[in-house]
Amino acid sequence: MKKPVFYNRTAVMIAIVAIVVSTATLTILSYKYTVGRENVVEDSLIRSNVKLVEREVDRIEQKIIDNDRSLYNMADVNDQSRWREVNDAIKKADLGVDQVWFLSLNGNVLYPSWSPGIKDLHAAFTRSFKTRELNLDRLHPDETNHLHKERREDYFFASYVIKENRRGEKILVCFQMNHGRVLALLDRYLKDLRSVYYVSVVDYENNGVSGPPLDRVKYFHESRFPSTFYKWLLQVVPRNYSEMERVARVQRRTNFFFIIMSISLIFLSLVIIYFAVRRERQLIQLKADFIGNVSHELKTPLALIRMFSEILTTGRVKNDESKLEYYRIIHKESDRMSRLINNLLDFARLERGAQTRHFEKINIADLVKRELETYRYQIQKDGFQLVSRLEDPLPETLADAHSLTLAFFNLLDNSVKYSEDHKQITVSVIKNDGYIDLSVADQGLGIPGSEQQRIFEKFYRGSNAAVLKTRGSGIGLAITKHVAEMHGGEVLVESEPGHGSTFTLRIPIREVPAGVSA
Ligand code: ADP
Repeated sequence: MKKPVFYNRTAVMIAIVAIVVSTATLTILSYKYTVGRENVVEDSLIRSNVKLVEREVDRIEQKIIDNDRSLYNMADVNDQSRWREVNDAIKKADLGVDQVWFLSLNGNVLYPSWSPGIKDLHAAFTRSFKTRELNLDRLHPDETNHLHKERREDYFFASYVIKENRRGEKILVCFQMNHGRVLALLDRYLKDLRSVYYVSVVDYENNGVSGPPLDRVKYFHESRFPSTFYKWLLQVVPRNYSEMERVARVQRRTNFFFIIMSISLIFLSLVIIYFAVRRERQLIQLKADFIGNVSHELKTPLALIRMFSEILTTGRVKNDESKLEYYRIIHKESDRMSRLINNLLDFARLERGAQTRHFEKINIADLVKRELETYRYQIQKDGFQLVSRLEDPLPETLADAHSLTLAFFNLLDNSVKYSEDHKQITVSVIKNDGYIDLSVADQGLGIPGSEQQRIFEKFYRGSNAAVLKTRGSGIGLAITKHVAEMHGGEVLVESEPGHGSTFTLRIPIREVPAGVSA
């Protein structure tokens, strides 16, 4: 027989490999997509951070330059006698200036002129402000310039400009800024930024100028003031960065969870498919065996019936006793055939779920007694000792007599088939804890533990059946189990290989029809 493509081992293997490969591809793609998306989100966060900080730095620079403009406008270089006045006015205005210096282009301080009173101020100024370092010849008049020095020189910060007086002389005016006031000014400018960011200003050696240096965490960014406080850096970290990281972490974990979940589900489905296919193959095999077994079961009695009926019809058998024996054989074999056919028809009905139930109040002990009377002769003729223990009186229960008879017959038939040399069968019916227990015990071959569950599966035949080459179709116990369940009961098996088996059909005692509450 040609196997369907679906069960073809190669086709199944190809399908499994295709599923595994596509799963792996999908997993890799979704992983890349997830990680890629996370990076995009992260990048855009970082970019918007950078943009914001750059804008802030520009804004501060612009403010300083505006500040310079006001200073330059106030510094009139025409009248040297008014420089002191100019200096006082600028210092008074809230523009952060400590001292205004007027110098010639070669670096000579024109104002304030040296005196012992300002000796230190003078020395500190000339130490930091060295005209030869400034490239003055390249400077245009009225152009804004800044000098910023490192920590060693107390972060000297000054704004300077070249101005021309009416006589055409070039005067270098330097506005030495007060460190504390500069920081206060910066603080004021950074106030808005601080509401959303941790902000700090540090020098090039990462010494905190305004606030301690910040940890270089994920969303950390630092930016240089390009032309004003060019020895300093502005550092920022979003205030909710730990929250952002937490959200990103949770998102990442959720994504991974879903990826792992879907992979596991796919693999689980593969395992289920694998077992389903295997089961299906076994079932196909079992069905094939079943057809073989049934045909064989029908052929043997049919052959006997034909043979003896032919002998009888020739009229050659004169002996009445022999005739009677042949008639008995024909009767026995036709009975066997009709039982088998009934069994098959009932099984087919159970399979279709179309069995007709006819529940009525019956005494199971009476039913068993009747059946035993029918078969006792035959069983004992085969050399069996048949013992029956039927409890009397036994309560009646609602049951379907036809299907119970069928189930009992299958158990009895099996105990005969699988007994071999120890030919003793005990049938008992007792009331046990709300149930009627119908047991059939033999002392035959027994059933290995590993098979004790499977023997109730349809078409399954145990290893002892193969050993004995017994007739059978593998549906007897499946029918019995079905009958038990249909009554709300069960079938139990106790068996030890070599020591016999006991099958017990447990039927609950019910007085009202199933489904109607008492
Ligand atoms: P069949 O007897 O036609 O093979 P059943 O469904 O009646 O099918 O039984 C299934 C299998 O259970 C049998 O093939 C046999 O191996 C095992 N079995 C059933 N009853 C007995 C028994 N009384 N003793 C030993 N084995 C049994």
